[in-house]
Amino acid sequence: MTKFLALTTLFLSAPLCAQQASGQSYLLLSHDPAFLEEVGRLSAPIYTKGRARLVKFTVPYASLPPHIAASVRPAEQGEISYGPAAAPEVKMADPAVLALTAKVSGSRLLGYADILTNTGKRGAKDLDASAASGNRAAMDYIESAFKDLGYETERHCYKERKKDRECNILARRRSAAPGAKIIAVVGHMDSVGHNNAGADDNASGAAGVLEMAQVLSAYASDHELLFIAANGEETGVAGTYALAKKMKASGEMSRVAWAINMDMIAWNRNGVLDIETNKEFSAYADWVAAQAVIYTKLKPYISMPAWGSDHVPFLEAGVPTYLAIENWEDHNPCYHQACDKMDTLSWTYASELVKLNLAVVAGKAKLTPLKP
Ligand SMILES: [Zn+2]
Repeated sequence: MTKFLALTTLFLSAPLCAQQASGQSYLLLSHDPAFLEEVGRLSAPIYTKGRARLVKFTVPYASLPPHIAASVRPAEQGEISYGPAAAPEVKMADPAVLALTAKVSGSRLLGYADILTNTGKRGAKDLDASAASGNRAAMDYIESAFKDLGYETERHCYKERKKDRECNILARRRSAAPGAKIIAVVGHMDSVGHNNAGADDNASGAAGVLEMAQVLSAYASDHELLFIAANGEETGVAGTYALAKKMKASGEMSRVAWAINMDMIAWNRNGVLDIETNKEFSAYADWVAAQAVIYTKLKPYISMPAWGSDHVPFLEAGVPTYLAIENWEDHNPCYHQACDKMDTLSWTYASELVKLNLAVVAGKAKLTPLKP
């Protein structure tokens, strides 16, 4: 009896005690090396796996520097999951989708990314320093590339900088289908600002957006296509948040059926792709992972919850969205550093990832070749 009572007390009180002892844990919304080092001095790690890092602060939350407080959010281990996606039941490929994905060109991806990487200083903050920054050159280049592909373009400027304006570059192709929903494809074009760097983060993802626009320019669709080269991602996902606000105000966001984000898609050595979303869209992520198995050589992992890139504003607006990103457990060692250069990247891997995103588009939209 005593023993039973003692055990009961133990079972009942253990979780409560643990809760009191642990305090609130926080999810890190940036993995910038300097940020991690600073957070490391103020916290103890609770959980580190896949894309998720949970910490408990060892100093009062109220005493945190504002830039640290701005890049963390309260989180529980229960909302975090990471691991290989379940194998799909049916693995039959659709020949029309194979014909579409076969059009992806690694050398074209490399070409786009090479130009973007070597525009100079591509940080949004570099628009304060010069009217001829790398960021401006990247905006101009992407806009003309979209135009050359026959898209209707828009410079969505949302912030005045000291020497220039900070803008997203949009490309659109409307659909003839009445009441057509929108498919949005996003990747950020800015970098943290090292000169002629940011090849993987995120010239690669912006190149992925251009390559998808290139391949899809040969098709009509029952969906409106919206390609977004987002700016200011490295300064708080500024461009996509500004765009999402505008799209919500105009009612356009309600037409977005789903969205895809590419961020860091070209450094890899194990073939693993991380597909990241929030719990409510886990069925969508499972379906995307199945397309990866059917149409690519990638090994899909599913990562939750979403944080720190251009998929988040769409998810917060209730749009099913995923981030396709290189395997985070073995990611680019030059992440956010001056050594993030072209010669470290794999355009075979990036091509597989773009093939997946095209297969996803083809799985959700009716595509018709413009010229048979
Ligand atoms: Zn990035």
